[in-house]
Amino acid sequence: MIKKLLCLLITGMVFTSALAQDVKFKVLALYTTTVEPDHVDFAHDAIKYFTDLAAKRGFTFDSTTNWKNLNDDNLKNYQVIIWLNDFPQDELQRTAFVKYMDNGGAWLGFHVAGYNDQYTKWPWFLSFLGSGVFYNNSWPPLPAKLIVDDGNHAVTKDIPASFIAPINEWYGWRPSPRLNKDVKVLVTLDPKNYPLGKKDIIREGDIPVVWTNTKYKMLYINMGHGDQIFTSEIQNKLFENAVIWLGARK
Ligand code: ZN
Repeated sequence: MIKKLLCLLITGMVFTSALAQDVKFKVLALYTTTVEPDHVDFAHDAIKYFTDLAAKRGFTFDSTTNWKNLNDDNLKNYQVIIWLNDFPQDELQRTAFVKYMDNGGAWLGFHVAGYNDQYTKWPWFLSFLGSGVFYNNSWPPLPAKLIVDDGNHAVTKDIPASFIAPINEWYGWRPSPRLNKDVKVLVTLDPKNYPLGKKDIIREGDIPVVWTNTKYKMLYINMGHGDQIFTSEIQNKLFENAVIWLGARK
């Protein structure tokens, strides 16, 4: 009897430690409260979502509006960095982030975090993102049908082959990140949505929505505009998969 109990106890301990190991990582989300109000709303909703998820899945989630926290000393405490609605503010922060990624850090970027144009002047980031420059957007924000490109990836696991994403402002990119041989596109805007928008209309084009540059531990997710983003169980599952994949993989 004692032997059986001991055996159960050990099994339980091994199981618990395996689970803990699976999800034991620290996430830092950076955001700004002085940007477009719809992007601030998203950041607040995201912080609530990831705080709850962290409690459920056993990882640590911190958030800050102080982008000076993008420095070597602080970054070494975290396995995943999230940019919710903004990007580094100066050269020092950019440099620390590059070093962090080069040393095996992981990044999750939402919506405007991937925004770049001719004024961005950060070639490293453009290459990191997969070479797509912001090209156009849809307005007003609308729901859209999305297509999952590869349902076997950890990020798209248990996500249906296509689903309706909640109201978002959708971005188009030129060139499409799909043309980059290092990019793996996971979710794409269904062309059946076109023309998408009323004031600003996306009429055509291959528009990836979720992708990773396989040279890095990174994922870009175009969702992130307004206070409706976390209203879809399916899409929430995608976000959960994303952070677990970035945090837990070797
Ligand atoms: Zn937006």
